[in-house]
Amino acid sequence: MTRQIDYRRRALDEVLLEGYLTLSELPRTREVVVADSGAPVDVRLVFNEDAQRRVVLTGRVQTTLVLACQRCLQPTEKAIDADVAGIVVAGDEAAAAVPRAWEPILAEGDMLDVHALVDDELLLALPMTVQCDRPQCRAAYDNDTEQETPEDRPAREKPNPFAALASLKRDDDRSR
Ligand SMILES: [Zn+2]
Repeated sequence: MTRQIDYRRRALDEVLLEGYLTLSELPRTREVVVADSGAPVDVRLVFNEDAQRRVVLTGRVQTTLVLACQRCLQPTEKAIDADVAGIVVAGDEAAAAVPRAWEPILAEGDMLDVHALVDDELLLALPMTVQCDRPQCRAAYDNDTEQETPEDRPAREKPNPFAALASLKRDDDRSR
């Protein structure tokens, strides 16, 4: 998939850009995954020009990423399906003028870095919580939540925040 594209020309021609990227082309996403799932990153982007001659970019980025389960830290595959709905801008000033419903997509001059865009979209689409489906992981987690309720936890297990202070005070007295 081409990396740099002239987005204004694509918009005039209402071009559909379709292709695949691999994690090796997406350095920031590669940093958050624990392994390469081997799944291609499927990219579909449509360039249009709106009535105000802004370049509107819509489409989809889909792939499967291997992320760490937040409970057991084991690698787990998560399907990512990111909708792209943005307006391509050439600078921060133009970005500030983009309506809230659209995402400002920063380009450098006439050229848009498609790889960087896909990298951004994947990072934005990462799930807030990553949990695997392993039964033993779920079982461990369920036990944890039961222990979380204050009634179930024996009082002696609660750390006493004053214990540390008290011992400090004692040392203090001794030194005098
Ligand atoms: Zn897990």
